[in-house]
Amino acid sequence: MSFEFDTLAIHAGQPNDPQTGSVSFPIYQTSTFQQIEPGVTKGFCYGRTENPTRKALEECLAALEGARHGLAFASGLAAINTCLNLLRSGDHVVASRDLYGGSYRIFTKVYAKFGVEFSFADTTRLEEIERAITPATRLLWLESPSNPLLKITDLAAAATLARARGIRVVVDNTFATPYLQRPLELGADLVVHSTTKYLNGHSDVIGGAVVTNDDSLFEQLKFFQNAVGAVPGPQDCYLTLRGIKTLGVRMDRHCANARRVAEFLAAHPKVERVFFPGLAAHPGHDVARRQQRDFGAIVSFVLKAGVDEA
Ligand SMILES: *Cc1c(COP(=O)(O)O)cnc(C)c1O
Repeated sequence: MSFEFDTLAIHAGQPNDPQTGSVSFPIYQTSTFQQIEPGVTKGFCYGRTENPTRKALEECLAALEGARHGLAFASGLAAINTCLNLLRSGDHVVASRDLYGGSYRIFTKVYAKFGVEFSFADTTRLEEIERAITPATRLLWLESPSNPLLKITDLAAAATLARARGIRVVVDNTFATPYLQRPLELGADLVVHSTTKYLNGHSDVIGGAVVTNDDSLFEQLKFFQNAVGAVPGPQDCYLTLRGIKTLGVRMDRHCANARRVAEFLAAHPKVERVFFPGLAAHPGHDVARRQQRDFGAIVSFVLKAGVDEA
């Protein structure tokens, strides 16, 4: 990286406003931009297609993931939907079995209806990914660490396996954020985010993003972003940019807190099992240590008592 991550988080995509010198990037709250003469604009035409505040967020997200291109969406699921727009009827997707519930729902309740087929595999085991692949497989959909069981997939190994077969690799990087993990550097084609979570970080915006280094995938996704229209408003883009400025310091604290919570729970007599990749006993501990800067901040656990008593 040419700049430290925290510097990019504050400045990437956000030059000082040339008109006023404002160091905080403005909220361009407009639907339409002037045509100087018919067909001639200053680079922006209509707010669904592009907006300067959104562009700042898209460039910032791309910079944090080490990507050439970024696209922002109205929610994480809108970002996921746009990746699925690349598919057609008859295509097949192999996805992590432990997966965000909303991803499972859009796969099985929306895209299955249009003739896209999904197989769910334990992607922590390469041989299970291999077994699930068919001649129609177009996408390998990975989530690591996964929601809610914190399973760790070896992203570089899974991406090598998929790409050797011409299969595109998507990684949902919401739980790790680009501060902890950069899947494009490990071989992923597309990275999706719910920016609602750590990236915005203040529980006041719903948003999503896709980043990629692939020019052709970017052109297709940008087409869908405009053609489908699930774009975030400029105010939400501003709030997300504002949240991202503190991502690094927040993640350091989140990770430290989560480790203490996980260690407390692991030693507790009423707790049956703790899922946290930072614990040496976690099956994905070594892979997580290799591919992440730190272990993340989501912890899940099982109580010894039955569900009712819990
Ligand atoms: C929340 C979440 C999503 C969906 O994002 P929304 O912004 O709620 O639409 C996708 N993936 C993961 C891992 C999530 O936690």
